[in-house]
Amino acid sequence: MSDQLSKTRAGGRHRAKKSFGQNFLVDSRIIERIVNELAPRADETIVEIGAGQGALTSHVARRAGKLFAVEFDRDLVPVLRDKFAAQENLTVVEADALEVEFCRLIEPAETARVVANLPYNISTAILQRLIAQRACLPEMFLMLQREVAERVVAAPGASGRGFLSVLVEAYCEADILFDVAPEAFRPVPKVWSTVVRLSARPQINFENEDLMWQTVSAGFAQRRKTIFNNLRAASPDLRTRIEEAGGAEQILFQSDIALQRRAETLTLDEWTRLVAALS
Ligand code: SAH
Repeated sequence: MSDQLSKTRAGGRHRAKKSFGQNFLVDSRIIERIVNELAPRADETIVEIGAGQGALTSHVARRAGKLFAVEFDRDLVPVLRDKFAAQENLTVVEADALEVEFCRLIEPAETARVVANLPYNISTAILQRLIAQRACLPEMFLMLQREVAERVVAAPGASGRGFLSVLVEAYCEADILFDVAPEAFRPVPKVWSTVVRLSARPQINFENEDLMWQTVSAGFAQRRKTIFNNLRAASPDLRTRIEEAGGAEQILFQSDIALQRRAETLTLDEWTRLVAALS
């Protein structure tokens, strides 16, 4: 249990909270590596999500023009404010990252890069939110559970290929930077982590975004089933749309996708064609 406790500056102790997905980085080489990959510049704004006890914060604040450190745990917010009281370019924001309007937060800056050692339990949800706000968040450096990182970059046909892979591929260029062993954190998690870089693509290739994600989600609904069977079992809304376009068989034929294919084998191009056939 002792490694779950760490001293705060005020002399108090903070017990890592599982519910907040708290695994604090303690390995200075890893911290340095992340900050070097991010390479904060004096003329830019950075957003850190889940600042925790400030392991990354201090290094980023030293190099960035302006840093917003978002932290949801109200026990940690005063610790951060106290620790960085003299750091004038840093604003500690007590908020749920899933609710933050980043484009507004960073004003008057128009864009900000993101760095985050994400709470694993909400990493998929946060990733979706960040992607939705990519207009002002052109680049993100994210520590993810390795298995999630593998899903993020999974190519068509790879076992981890799923909704998350298609979503990220559609909007971002994703690169795996390096893996991080569990021992780099306190408390020590059960799994390995991976740092990934996501860069927002300047353009996307499809028009109806809602329909796209509705279709991809339906396609992956039951992973063992074919795309054809998943489309036929889609929610009433989407099914009506499919019927209006001539039925599942017809739209798959039209987009040159064999009926027995599974969603995990489809390329982004094929998803795009499928949605075009539905539009
Ligand atoms: N960046 C720190 C902490 C990582 S642990 C480090 O590397 O040491 C993840 C952090 O995210 C925790 O501090 C946790 O309290 C915070 N967190 C959890 N859920 C959050 C949410 N919804 N919004 C913002 N921060 C959150």
